Amino acid sequence: MRPLPDRSAAATVARTFHTLIVQPTTLCNLDCAYCYLPDRTRQRLMSVPVAAACAASVAVQDSDHPVDVVWHGGEPTATPLEHFRALLAPFEPLRAAGRVRHGIQTNATLLNERWCELLSAFQFQVGVSVDGPPWANRHRVDRAGHDTHARTIRGVRQLRQAGIPFTAICVVTPDTIDRVDDLVAFFTMLGCTSVGFNIEEQEGSQRAVVDEQAAYRFWQRLVQLRTAGNALSVRDLDRLVGYLHATRTDPRPLAAPFDPIPTVGFNGQTVLLSPELLGITAADYQDFIAGNVLTASLPQMIADADRLRYVREFTTALHACASNCGFFDFCRGAQAGNRYFEHGTFTVAETHYCRTTRQALVRAAAAELTEGR
Ligand code: SF4
Repeated sequence: MRPLPDRSAAATVARTFHTLIVQPTTLCNLDCAYCYLPDRTRQRLMSVPVAAACAASVAVQDSDHPVDVVWHGGEPTATPLEHFRALLAPFEPLRAAGRVRHGIQTNATLLNERWCELLSAFQFQVGVSVDGPPWANRHRVDRAGHDTHARTIRGVRQLRQAGIPFTAICVVTPDTIDRVDDLVAFFTMLGCTSVGFNIEEQEGSQRAVVDEQAAYRFWQRLVQLRTAGNALSVRDLDRLVGYLHATRTDPRPLAAPFDPIPTVGFNGQTVLLSPELLGITAADYQDFIAGNVLTASLPQMIADADRLRYVREFTTALHACASNCGFFDFCRGAQAGNRYFEHGTFTVAETHYCRTTRQALVRAAAAELTEGR
């Protein structure tokens, strides 16, 4: 008989990281209605010593697993291109050794030939943020309140002309959630290799949240389209399929602990567990700062993470998830940021986010796939 996965081992924060999020600039050229980034109107650039300290932290961590270094903003391409290139330089020995893979999440509006050359040269995995056709994308406006859809599509065209594959991330809002077929048609036409649907979350911005029944219908329709042969790769469905496959072949992946996901701000200040916590002021949690990469390595910060109240609270909630929640083996405990933004604490296990994004997906897939059996 196959051993059951050790859920208590899974409900801890790992001592090494597979994902590192870095902020080359705080500036974003857009002003999306649901944006939570507090400093997005100011151009504050990461310095080369901060980037070098990030690279040094990857080099010293006790793991051969490649690290996905995700350049996130602000809007990362609002960084002057030559400065961005200088930030990449310290990572080059690691990239050459296969220990670092670069990724970027961009609104694509500033992409041009020179950016595409850089993305190709450094083998970036590119993610484009776009919420669907113009009617669905209307929350993504510039500072003057103007629509940005055409500019994003122009950037996507640049990627395609340069032969750069890209994924997409779509924020699904209460007014788009019932138009699944239209969204699927759009992302199929866009030519992305995969799309991730993020049900709108309650982060720094106070906006209407998606109803749980609507979320269920959304995932249900996506599953129906997939089982009917639709070829669009959907990140969330692929994860579920991957999980089901893993449980059939090897239980070990289920024992993986939570990635600490260090996020390093432009000035080296670092938060753990959730990039959304960067730049948020919270006296009770000392602004979530685990340290500064200029004075402490990331492995050191992670080793000391238990002294941080929010990390201790999150670990407690992870244990509650592992003990009590039937979705844990797939979910892994969901996001720290959602717990905080919804409840002002990290101790709450079940959130609106996990009900609309993890639980509704699994319920809808289970109902669809077992119907009539
Ligand atoms: S679905 Fe919610 S309660 Fe369940 S494991 Fe995930 S985060 Fe925890």
